Amino acid sequence: MRLYILSRNEELYSTRRLVEAATQRDWEVRVIDYLKCSIEIMKGELKINYLGEELPKPDAIIPRIGASRTFYGTAMVRHFEMMDVFSVTGSLAIKRSRDKLRSLQILSKKSIDMPKTIFASNESSANDVIALSGGTPLVLKILEGTQGVGVVLVESEKAAKSVLDAFYGMDVNLLVQEFIEEANGSDIRAFVVDGEVVGAMKRQGAEGEFRSNLHQGGTATAHKLTRKEKSTAIAAAKAMGLGVCGVDMIPSKRGPLVMEVNSSPGLEGIETSTKLDIAGKIMDYIERNVEVTTTPTKKR
Ligand code: ADP
Repeated sequence: MRLYILSRNEELYSTRRLVEAATQRDWEVRVIDYLKCSIEIMKGELKINYLGEELPKPDAIIPRIGASRTFYGTAMVRHFEMMDVFSVTGSLAIKRSRDKLRSLQILSKKSIDMPKTIFASNESSANDVIALSGGTPLVLKILEGTQGVGVVLVESEKAAKSVLDAFYGMDVNLLVQEFIEEANGSDIRAFVVDGEVVGAMKRQGAEGEFRSNLHQGGTATAHKLTRKEKSTAIAAAKAMGLGVCGVDMIPSKRGPLVMEVNSSPGLEGIETSTKLDIAGKIMDYIERNVEVTTTPTKKR
């Protein structure tokens, strides 16, 4: 098996663990910085070059595309797909998952529950948007934000009106969302591989913080999913078409609500909190889907 991990940094925990799990299986594995790839497109022929040399065709790829590099990264993934290389996450699904609004539209269509969300342009009045969302407190999310940056809790109606006016004045695209108070700054991340939950953790935001992101000081512990959380996570992964993903849900009175589906979920939090070999589960998924055509470089 020849496997490429498309990652910009081989020192990252997730990248290191994926390399380790592939090496344990005696696979030929390489970390490829996708920004250093270039593609050749001509009639009937597809080639990928890496640092000026043509890359031998792999059997499978694991894309770990950074949020700020989605356009270039998914173009490389698409090229591998066109070469009939198996990718654990497809380029189109990665692209869809990177757009919070588009993701919510797809999840809503599949009857997956989420906080009520309003998307309006600056042609709408702030008062109307606040009323449509169900009133304050509410959560504003800048569409381009990640890792909790650009997610704001607005408590009073007066503040909501002035913040909305300010954002609309700057022509920022933003989602206005019902605030789920009972989540209490916690959320649940279910790690889904090939339509099955392979691990789950609960993240708790720092004291007084409504955002649970680990980048915002949150802490993670292993979590046993309820039946509803499990079926919601599997349905969300399926709706987004992602073979490997992290489904983020917040608990609410009406059951789990999906926040987003992450197409490059980190392995450190989930493996450390659950002590599970999640990287190995990803390799098993590849093994089930790839008929190996390349000769192994190493023999037992
Ligand atoms: P990001 O993609 O930047 O992580 P999220 O939409 O996932 O942004 O929000 C970050 C965190 O804020 C969530 O993990 C959750 O803990 C909290 N949060 C987000 N939306 C809501 C909401 N509507 N009600 C309550 N808490 C929320």
